[in-house]
Amino acid sequence: MTQRNPMIGKVIAIDGPAGAGKGTLATSLAREYRMKYLDTGTLYRTVAYKVLRAGGDPAREEDALKACDLSDYDFKHMGNNKFCVLLDGEDVMSELRTQSVGQGASKVAFYTSVRSALKQFQIEFAEKWASQYGVILDGRDIGTVICPDADYKFFIDADPEVRAHRRIEELKSRGHQANFEETLSEILERDARDRGRKDAPLKPAGDAYVVDTSHKNALQVLQMVMDYISMPVAKV
Ligand code: C5P
Repeated sequence: MTQRNPMIGKVIAIDGPAGAGKGTLATSLAREYRMKYLDTGTLYRTVAYKVLRAGGDPAREEDALKACDLSDYDFKHMGNNKFCVLLDGEDVMSELRTQSVGQGASKVAFYTSVRSALKQFQIEFAEKWASQYGVILDGRDIGTVICPDADYKFFIDADPEVRAHRRIEELKSRGHQANFEETLSEILERDARDRGRKDAPLKPAGDAYVVDTSHKNALQVLQMVMDYISMPVAKV
C-alpha cells in the first residue's frame, strides 16, 4: 500500500531577498515532499518583461498595470517541478531571469494596484493545489500577505556579497555575463526598494523560521528546513 504524503493539504511559505536561495530550497522541498511550487517572483518578472517588450517604463504605474493581465502567458509545470513561462508557446524563462527584468520587477512590485492584480493568481494557485499535493510559494510577502495562515513559514537570508556571487553563477549558467560590483549594487538597490515599499515590504513574518544561508550549501539548508518541518512543534 502506498503511504499518504504527509504534506498533502499543507502550505509552505518561503520569503527572502534576491539570491538568498529561496528558489533552490523550494525546488528541493517540492521534490522531496512531492508538492506543487510557485515562484511568485516570476509573476512580477513577467509583468516587467511585458512592459519592457512594449517599450514602456516599469516605474510608471499605468504601464505596469496594463501588463498585469497574464492571460496571454502560460505558467506551466514541466514535471519534476521545473516551472516554465510560455509566451505564444515559446519558453521565456531565460529572458525573465535577466538583471534588467529583475530590476523592472521590483519597480512594478512597488505599486499596490499591481500587487492586488497578481494576488488572486497566487491565492488560487495555493487553494487549487494544496488539497491534492500541498503547495510551496516563494517570494517577498508570502508569509505576511498571500498565505498568512501557512503551515510553515521560512525567511531565507544571506549576506549581500554572497548573494551577488550566487546571482553571477546563476546568470552564467543561463549564458549571461555579469560583473561583481554591478551585481552587488543591483542587489542592494533591489533590497532597498523591496524592504522600503509601503505595501507588503520584504520582512520576515513574526512567526517565520529565519535561516541565514551565507555559510551553508544548498543541501545543509534543505536539511535544516526538513528537520524543522519534522519537529512536532514546527506548525506555526
Ligand atoms: O524573486 P525574484 O528575484 O524573481 O523577484 C523579482 C522581484 O519581484 C523582487 O525584487 C520583488 O520586488 C518582486 N516580488 C515581490 N513579491 C513577491 C515576489 C517578487 O514584490 N512575492
